[in-house]
Amino acid sequence: MVFCRDEASGLRAIVAIHDTTLGPGLGGIRMRDYASDSAALTDVLRLSQAMTLKASLAGLDFGGGKAVMLGVAPPPARADRFRALGRFIDSLGGRYIPTEDLGTYTPDIERLRETSRYGVGVAPSLGGGGDPSPMTAWGVFCGLRAAIDAAGMQPGVKGKRAVVQGVGKVGLALVRLLIEAGADVAVSDVDRTRLEEAEALGARSVTNDTAHREPCDVLSPCATGASLNEQTIGELGCRIVAGGANNQLANAQDDDRLQARGILYAPDFAINAGGLINVADELGPGGYDRARALATTERIEPTLRRIFEESKRTGTPPGRVALRLARERIDARRGSSR
Ligand code: NAD
Repeated sequence: MVFCRDEASGLRAIVAIHDTTLGPGLGGIRMRDYASDSAALTDVLRLSQAMTLKASLAGLDFGGGKAVMLGVAPPPARADRFRALGRFIDSLGGRYIPTEDLGTYTPDIERLRETSRYGVGVAPSLGGGGDPSPMTAWGVFCGLRAAIDAAGMQPGVKGKRAVVQGVGKVGLALVRLLIEAGADVAVSDVDRTRLEEAEALGARSVTNDTAHREPCDVLSPCATGASLNEQTIGELGCRIVAGGANNQLANAQDDDRLQARGILYAPDFAINAGGLINVADELGPGGYDRARALATTERIEPTLRRIFEESKRTGTPPGRVALRLARERIDARRGSSR
């Protein structure tokens, strides 16, 4: 962990590198008004671990890393804070490679790149793949097809009722895909302007606090983490949980709770890997190749089919199956380097 503080810009940030067995820690920078410093620390640790698992399961040669910036910075301090964070990240010599996440955007990464050699998710004009969020949404959409089949529902998204919680970069892109495919979509968010954008696409808004209770086929968490906990799981109105948010489960037992309620959970770090795949591709041979990133992202669907099949065969909840598969690859690499 690296605690970063820059008096001039007001930057306060934490970088966490969880595991570099498969390669350098790759993961986004989150910017939020945290309730406390310890909440920020918990978030960055949980997120960096999720990135390790996500990269491994997606077959990428990267480890897990994440950064959180404490407090939402308005311009012009915002640009200065990203430049300051860039200096800290550069000093790590490539052990952590940042990109965007909740509350951060492509221009932020471009400011950071002014002071750091490391940073992906930059604009195509700078040789990057741009904002990774649409690819994250595409991966969730592909994974959802596997979940629908595994839940024994009529195949395809057409006619399904979906509730998307959080319609930011990922959630809104997912709403667009769902509506284009003929789903009936409801949305919730804490930000009214985001809801209006989703409504303009044909979604209807529901109250944020009760969105999880809406009777539907699919609940798609696309905001902050831990939205699935002992209380909310008891109240869920869906048959499938499949969303873009990181760390959707408050703790490991929630995987069992979902299974006990007969709700199919698409493990978050399996289904939301599209954005990570897209930014990792910028570092692949020859630089960013959209067709290659798309093909790798579409492998999320067979990966989920495998997870659901094994879960059904062994009675193990899907989250734990995904965890085992992710760890297996890391352990094998560790063993072969001994
Ligand atoms: P974003 O900041 O663009 O959007 C988040 C949205 O959630 C905003 O509209 C915000 O108003 C809303 N929100 C915040 N708190 C909420 C709450 N309590 N209830 C309902 N809505 C709330 O972020 P994003 O990049 O779309 O990321 C969303 C989630 O997906 C995060 O968990 C992120 O870590 C995860 N994720 C993102 C990517 C990516 O490519 N951007 C990739 C993988 C995972």
